[in-house]
Amino acid sequence: MNYNKKSIEDIEVAGKRVLCRCDFNVPTKAGVITSDKRIVAALPTIKYLVEHNAKVILCSHMGKPKGEWKPELSLKIVAARLSELLGKEVIMAADVAGEDAKAKAAALKDGDVMLLENTRYIKGETKNDPELSRDLASMADIFVNDAFGTAHRAHSSTAGVADYLPAVSGYLVQKEVSIMGKALANPERPFVAILGGAKVADKLNVINNLLEKVDTLIIGGGMAYTFAAAQGYTVGKSLLDESKIDYCKEMMEKASAKGVKLLLPVDCVVGNFPSPIDGSVDVKTVAINEIPDDLEGMDIGEKTAAIFADAVKNAKTVVWNGPMGVFENPTLAKGTIAMAQALADSDAVTIVGGGDSAAACEQLGFADKITHISTGGGASLEFLEGLELPGIACLQDK
Ligand code: ADP
Ligand code: MG
Repeated sequence: MNYNKKSIEDIEVAGKRVLCRCDFNVPTKAGVITSDKRIVAALPTIKYLVEHNAKVILCSHMGKPKGEWKPELSLKIVAARLSELLGKEVIMAADVAGEDAKAKAAALKDGDVMLLENTRYIKGETKNDPELSRDLASMADIFVNDAFGTAHRAHSSTAGVADYLPAVSGYLVQKEVSIMGKALANPERPFVAILGGAKVADKLNVINNLLEKVDTLIIGGGMAYTFAAAQGYTVGKSLLDESKIDYCKEMMEKASAKGVKLLLPVDCVVGNFPSPIDGSVDVKTVAINEIPDDLEGMDIGEKTAAIFADAVKNAKTVVWNGPMGVFENPTLAKGTIAMAQALADSDAVTIVGGGDSAAACEQLGFADKITHISTGGGASLEFLEGLELPGIACLQDK
């Protein structure tokens, strides 16, 4: 896939109607936005369009209304918050691409901002229905995709609309694509990838793809125990995907055939099954080949953390997806903290993807020391798998 995509700066927007897909899928509680982070993240693109005299038509989904007009998933609250942040009126359409939206879009003046209703109010959205794509496109002259979090979905408002309009990236998508695209296509070496999290099965394709690209692959978290089993060790009550043991063996062989250093835990923190995500837990550290039958591995041990951190130290590019342990519990967060610290201390380009890993970096206070924390969990994972993301593939190449 070509990662060299045109952005809003590469196209004339003045006087044009610009349909801009944002990720306004904000968390809410009882009709109130609990975090406006995603709205704030969209501001640079929206401000650029306003300042360059575009007629701005914003759209997004919120939640999963599945084609039903659920009032609690209306984007009206987003329009209100956005209006406060921009310090100007945000015109709210009563529908997605219906009569009201079309009339309001036609009446926009240069620099005006309007927001369409929740795109998933229309059944066709998630089916990438050409009729909806055409309706959306009919309101605008240019399409801007600034929603990386949904870039792995081929929906009408994320990709389909680009069949009918010149399409470019907004600043958020541009940042994701240029940093992650460069890391995968043309990384500065040594290139180290760290994978963790709960399940091997979720990340099979990522492991396989990264082995084609990296110099060192580090595996921790719950998925490491299936690798431990592949090494011939018993893993007690730890997470284990027996059906993937052979796959792990294959990956170990592939790594050695390619000369990729594959680093697996040498010790781990064990405790009573099941691992609690809060509350106190009695733990001890054991060698990876000495996990007691009745205990569960819940974090990487100190020796492992030191080996992993050392591999990060000399890296020039680091990609991290998936925590090293059950980091939600402070007692079991040490391995994850050690990795976050290693990334923070490194001069490398450091990229964190994956919803829980991003949350871990933020909660643990390392976010501002990481080069880039991806705004899209699922999208960044598919990116690492080497898959083509429809919401990016549809944008014009430079
Ligand atoms: P991401 O969202 O960053 O891609 P995942 O969703 O794959 O990460 O995995 C995150 C989850 O993995 C966390 O909830 C964490 O508690 C869990 N986890 C990490 N290590 C272990 C382990 N050793 N045993 C059980 N669960 C684990
Ligand atoms: Mg997750």
